Amino acid sequence: MASNPNGQDMTLYPSHDRNAFSTKLKQVIGRTQKQGGTGSLLIVRMDRLREINQEFGYAFGDEVIHQVAKILQKFIARKDYLFRLADQEYGIILPRTRGAGEVILLANKLISHFQDPIHVEDIPFKCRIRIGMAHFPDHATDTIALMQCADRATQKAKELQTRYAISPPIDNSDTTTFFVMENELERDIASNRIRFRYQPKVDLQSGSLIGFEVLSRWKSERWGIIRPDKFIALAERSELITTLTVNCLTRTLKQFSDLQKRHKRPELSLSVNLSARILNHSESLERIIQTVEIWCDRPETLIFEITEGSVIDDPAAALTQLNRLHGAGIRISIDDFGTGYSSLAYLKKIPVDELKIDKSFILDILTNPDDAIIVQSIIDLAKNFGLDTVAEGLESLEVWRRLQDMGCGMGQGFYISKPLRFTDIDAWITTPLARVSVRD
Ligand code: C2E
Ligand code: CA
Ligand code: CA
Repeated sequence: MASNPNGQDMTLYPSHDRNAFSTKLKQVIGRTQKQGGTGSLLIVRMDRLREINQEFGYAFGDEVIHQVAKILQKFIARKDYLFRLADQEYGIILPRTRGAGEVILLANKLISHFQDPIHVEDIPFKCRIRIGMAHFPDHATDTIALMQCADRATQKAKELQTRYAISPPIDNSDTTTFFVMENELERDIASNRIRFRYQPKVDLQSGSLIGFEVLSRWKSERWGIIRPDKFIALAERSELITTLTVNCLTRTLKQFSDLQKRHKRPELSLSVNLSARILNHSESLERIIQTVEIWCDRPETLIFEITEGSVIDDPAAALTQLNRLHGAGIRISIDDFGTGYSSLAYLKKIPVDELKIDKSFILDILTNPDDAIIVQSIIDLAKNFGLDTVAEGLESLEVWRRLQDMGCGMGQGFYISKPLRFTDIDAWITTPLARVSVRD
């Protein structure tokens, strides 16, 4: 009976025992990480097993599998682990490897073990394998994700007609990674690891502060900083967006109310982005309203920013939901205004307080006459409807002046301030700003 150098009997790891394999992989990843080391996972896949079985019979095929297992066992060192994962697939865990170079050498060595034909029933038989490699923690630190990486690498080897391949860099848009990311995002929301930044919104005529927009930030342990539009889109695929918004409101409303009191500015507003998914889902919206009722003493200073597209997709449904929010005293802003190609007739019907002109028009307002015309018509339209206007993406004094001339009410953008940490707001409020120069 075959056994490998660390005493693992192959029969202890019968085919398809992925559970034992996952448990060991998890243990090894945990230990390696604790020691600050790096390791690798190899998936070794035999070619043509089905054809062998068909041509020579299953007994012959079993003997081939057995011989392959023997070669693999000879190859692995005492510290390594070998598992049979499926009929023609093995997993090798290498707890200590120092980067891709070493693993490629090992892969080459392993392939060379299969250069000579194996003998089954005295028939010389050339067995071919492909190896897919993934490293931890570089590619992943979670067993499922790491397996997926190594698995993809074997596919890649097949496509490229090579004997081995290393997992491609993680592609965050990939569906499997999406699934793993979703779990991690859920965990990080629950453990309050999402951070919030506050971007000031000012009156363009006087330069005085009107309020802040809260923007979420996520730094994942595994992938580092993930852009908000990416993780918001991820959260919007499920109920996670409601959890994230409730988390945002719970953690920002109280401290913002303290800030209003501290600066004796009870009218300062807090704008929070509200996803269309929440708007279209009455139970989610109910959770949001309840959270506001608990944490917000001045709902009239709370503004929900809702993207234009989500309102015009289903105006009738939006009307009901927006009425509920408005009824709770909250103000409504239409975000990314101008991108939705709407007829604008709906503006008369729904309770809206503010139009936030999309930054794509503001960024090029000085150089693109079409953008300037659109911005002017939005400002005029808002005036006709008695709505406030905010220009987002205000990046220079020149743009500020232009918007002032056009009659735009408020502005938000890097020229005024980047989104700030909560702890930096006090200093920002009390420090003379570039915006002061506009007043002079
Ligand atoms: P948004 O609501 O349109 O937010 C404005 C975005 O413009 C922010 O990007 C902000 O950092 C950026 N920005 C501000 N000033 C300037 C400027 O002068 N120039 C340029 N080029 N950009 C500027 P951010 O923080 O990356 O957020 C992206 C989007 O993610 C937001 O767009 C919003 O739709 C969404 N988002 C962020 N946090 C949340 C959240 O908590 N909930 C929801 N539902 N969406 C969120
Ligand atoms: Ca916004
Ligand atoms: Ca926007």
